[in-house]
Amino acid sequence: MASEQESQSLCLACGLCCNGALHGRTIIADNEIHKAAELGLEIELSVIPPGFKQPCVMFVGNCCNIYAQRPTSCQVYRCALLEKYEAGRVTYEEAMRVVDQGRSMYEAVLDSLPEGITVAQLRNILRIDNQKTTDWYHADENQPVVTEALLHFVVLSWHLDRFFRKPNTLQESNRD
Ligand code: SF4
Ligand code: SF4
Repeated sequence: MASEQESQSLCLACGLCCNGALHGRTIIADNEIHKAAELGLEIELSVIPPGFKQPCVMFVGNCCNIYAQRPTSCQVYRCALLEKYEAGRVTYEEAMRVVDQGRSMYEAVLDSLPEGITVAQLRNILRIDNQKTTDWYHADENQPVVTEALLHFVVLSWHLDRFFRKPNTLQESNRD
């Protein structure tokens, strides 16, 4: 049986649902917007539903800076791997190995990012339905070459799809 403490240590070693690897955005309930903004989260009110961008500004040193006061959508969030571990369908060691692999892949993305390019931009480049960003990518020959970082991001995304995202709903209800 999975212990609460082991679940927490898995998440502490991971952080892939806060650092921009898994999600580009976290949705927030209307009645929590004010408090979240006071805590320092940068809420996008012009986007429906309201939320905040990832990587989350509160994610510092691989920890949530406002853990005890984090929004409900963060409190209830469980990736597929954590659910599987808590249901006893994967051991702690197996889950930690998947986390470690994901972290290494994420580090490879960061290490290959050209100066001035963010993980969020890579995510948008891969969204072929985002015409504005694909224009940005193709139009300006002076933009830095992001090919290597993109390849690492694709490998990471494949790993996340396989182990962390829920089957059939590659998007989560409170994250996108
Ligand atoms: S992605 Fe899953 S294992 Fe990693 S921190 Fe988030 S909930 Fe925990
Ligand atoms: S508020 Fe905390 S738990 Fe929520 S996304 Fe930001 S760092 Fe993660």
